[in-house]
Order: sequence, then C-alpha cells, then structure tokens
Amino acid sequence: MRVFLNPGHALGGRPDPGCTNPRCQLRECDLALTYGSLCGKYLEAAGCEVKLLQSHNLAGESPGFPCVVDTANAWGADVFISIHVNAGGGRGAETYCYSTEGAGGRLAACIQNQLVRSLAPIDPGYRDRGVKAHPSFCVLRNTTMPAVLVEVGFIDSDDVGLLTLHGDGIARAIARGATDYWQ
Ligand SMILES: [Zn+2]
Repeated sequence: MRVFLNPGHALGGRPDPGCTNPRCQLRECDLALTYGSLCGKYLEAAGCEVKLLQSHNLAGESPGFPCVVDTANAWGADVFISIHVNAGGGRGAETYCYSTEGAGGRLAACIQNQLVRSLAPIDPGYRDRGVKAHPSFCVLRNTTMPAVLVEVGFIDSDDVGLLTLHGDGIARAIARGATDYWQ
C-alpha cells in the first residue's frame, strides 16, 4: 500500500502555522509534522510505501510551494491522509472524508476508530466526534484516491495532554487505521 501523508499547514509555520496555543507555545504545523513523521515510520515498518509532504500549496493556489494533491495523484497513492489539530475548545477526534459512502468513508472510520480506541482509555474526556463528510475540503475533492482529513484533538482544550505526551500513540493509531482499511 502506498500511503501519502500530509501534515497540515506550512512546513516550519511560514506563512501558515495552522492553529496555535500561545499559552503553551504549541503550533498545529509542528504537532502535525511530528505525528505524520512517526506514522510514516510505523507504516514503513508494516511494509507500506510512504510519501510525506507538508506544504502551503494544497491544490495549486500557492505555486511557490510544492503542490500536495498533484504530488499525491502523480505518485499513485492508494490512500491519502491529511493530519490536523483542531481549535475551538472541544475534545476528541473527528475524521473527514469526501463522502461517508465508499472507500474514503471506510478509511475515515478505520482511523477514527483507532484514535478513539487508543486515546479514550488514557483520557476519558477524549470524545469520539465521528466521521463526517466534507466534500468541499480541497484535499478531499482534488485527490484521486480514498482521502481523509483527520483532526486528532484540540490544541486549546484538555486534549493538550494527549497531543503533547501521547503523540506516539496518535501516530500509531493513524497507521493502524490505514492498515485496518487495507486488510
Ligand atoms: Zn489544520
């Protein structure tokens, strides 16, 4: 299985760090890259081919940066996983797909289930916010393979403990979700 991993927002935070929590110096771009890099190592250990790209250009809108969807489509990825961190003070994980019917929906359900099964036992406040269709997300709309965008938790809530201390568990859960889907 060829897995394309897209940690959200701009590499190094310039020009777009994603959401931030100034109180604890956390930036979404850094957390997403940490989870994506670890996830890629677990997937490679499981025999997958992995390509990772974090870039400010998702679908051609910022030509000075490498284009995420073009790279994934040209590489012939079997699955596409965009990794993000939420903001707004809620708790838990939610995973978006183009449509809850079909392969993208199944991939989303596999990743969502693994995240909740892995993290809720550590912190019961971590909620299963579910799988949701969001066809207007450009990484979901413009990719040619089953694609998901996973929001692993909230940067500005009590999820911060999980996000900072259990990044390895988050990465493993995403990797297991992808391999569950492929079986
Ligand atoms: Zn984001």
